[in-house]
Amino acid sequence: MPELPEVEITARRLDAALRGATVESAVAPGMNVMKTFQPPLDELAGRAVTAVRRVGKMPVVEFGDLALLVHLMSAGRLRVFEKRASPRDRASRVLVRLEGGRELRLREFGSKQRAWAKLLAAGAVAADEMVATLGPEAWPAPPLDAFAAAIDQPRHLHPLLRDQRAIAGIGRSWVDEILWEARLSPFKQGSEMSPAEVGRLHAALHVLGDAIDHYEETIGEELPDKLPMPLRVHRREGEPCPRCGATIEAVFFAEHQTNYCPAEQTGGRVLKDRRLSRLLK
Ligand SMILES: [Zn+2]
Repeated sequence: MPELPEVEITARRLDAALRGATVESAVAPGMNVMKTFQPPLDELAGRAVTAVRRVGKMPVVEFGDLALLVHLMSAGRLRVFEKRASPRDRASRVLVRLEGGRELRLREFGSKQRAWAKLLAAGAVAADEMVATLGPEAWPAPPLDAFAAAIDQPRHLHPLLRDQRAIAGIGRSWVDEILWEARLSPFKQGSEMSPAEVGRLHAALHVLGDAIDHYEETIGEELPDKLPMPLRVHRREGEPCPRCGATIEAVFFAEHQTNYCPAEQTGGRVLKDRRLSRLLK
């Protein structure tokens, strides 16, 4: 699932590859992928890509006074290809054909079609409901007082940090890394943290910037479909904690999991597997 570091490197590479390229045509083979109908997608024909940037976990491709706001959801990817997609390509949701034969594709893997795009006036992106409701960007880290205010909520840190309206850019992978870096339990309440704990959590946001630096060093001009995510605890249950050597544990939910070091994050307690305890009820 692309989160802030993955979307940031995607936007940087696409910006370098596409800036100045002229659009020949644009179509949306994906059912219901376009959440807007005016202006129509073929309004892009003849325009040039002026920038590719990121807001929260969403890439934004700008074409002068129009902008394509994209939500990748869990399985969407935005990449440029040297050749046109085959008509049999079932993964493509939006195809932006560029002069010279290249093509920008929004593709989605798996059977579910959940990724979406909106074609908006460039000046209207900030007011779009998905953008206007975002909390402060998680990277670069907001000022400490703004961060403290954003997470002062009576909710567990794991869902709270993934709530884009509280703070923008963090998802199921990086939340585990940030909480591990801060040595905080995923089940600690946002509103029950000491100032020192808030400070540790705020400082731990640097893992997002470190991940972007890692991608800058390891990814060339071409973006792979699967980025080499430098994760140290997420999905590493059973492995030793890279810091203290204790065994990394997991709590499984219906559609995701959280991993943590019990020695450093939960005072030695191994948390109940929520999936198992629900079955036993
Ligand atoms: Zn540890």
